[in-house]
Amino acid sequence: MKLYDAHNHLQDDRFAGRRAELLAACASIGVARMVVNGACESDWPQVLALARQTPVVLPSFGYHPWYVAERSADWLRELEKLLDQVPAAVGEIGLDRWKPDLPYAGQEEVFLAQLRLAAERNLPASIHCLQTWGRLHELLREHPRPARGFLLHSYGGPAEMVPALARLGAYFSFPGYFLQARKQRQRESFKQVPPNRLLLETDAPDQLPPTERNRFPLTDAAGQPLNHPANLSAVYAGFAEFVGEKVEALAARVEENFQRMFGGLK
Ligand SMILES: [Zn+2]
Repeated sequence: MKLYDAHNHLQDDRFAGRRAELLAACASIGVARMVVNGACESDWPQVLALARQTPVVLPSFGYHPWYVAERSADWLRELEKLLDQVPAAVGEIGLDRWKPDLPYAGQEEVFLAQLRLAAERNLPASIHCLQTWGRLHELLREHPRPARGFLLHSYGGPAEMVPALARLGAYFSFPGYFLQARKQRQRESFKQVPPNRLLLETDAPDQLPPTERNRFPLTDAAGQPLNHPANLSAVYAGFAEFVGEKVEALAARVEENFQRMFGGLK
């Protein structure tokens, strides 16, 4: 079975010095491709280096809303240069009104500039959204979007919005974290996702699955738990169980969806 991780952060500093070991574990469970999302200018070069070293890595470059204040005057040109160098997606981009003390000012401008770039080049865009779904929907409706679609990673918006977002071209990716008992609302929303718009993700090193499903326990230097990217197999198993589908059938569907969304990049 070939597995596809629609969203992780293998370049994260918390994984420093351990990437070869992590990738070996991913190979052992059948990970065929993972989309590694940069979050700001300072980690884009690491994402590029990983993509050059490892064919399993599909690079994605973007400014995450948490880091927009760090952007240089040249950030957009830097992003374009990277997209010229290597077949890549755009992300992680987005909007966040959840994180305490994070200014909202500037987020929409940075998000829209990157969405425009993805639309112009027809690249997949990976979008983070917390507590501002109505506004995101409005912006997506009013602006050009990539013809191939875009990914709402760890979709935690209302179930009722799924059909309207799907009509705009949305794919929805499910993280292992939503298998936690208290994430029932988020889990249930995925029952509204059209079968051809579903993807799975780890968001490693974040969004741990429940302890009993964590097959690759990992901690950082300070002993804090990290989500191992090879927990992707636990996401497949947990989601298949949740929707009552055979994991092989789920895997075949996710592979098709992944190739439609992230395949054929130039
Ligand atoms: Zn992420």
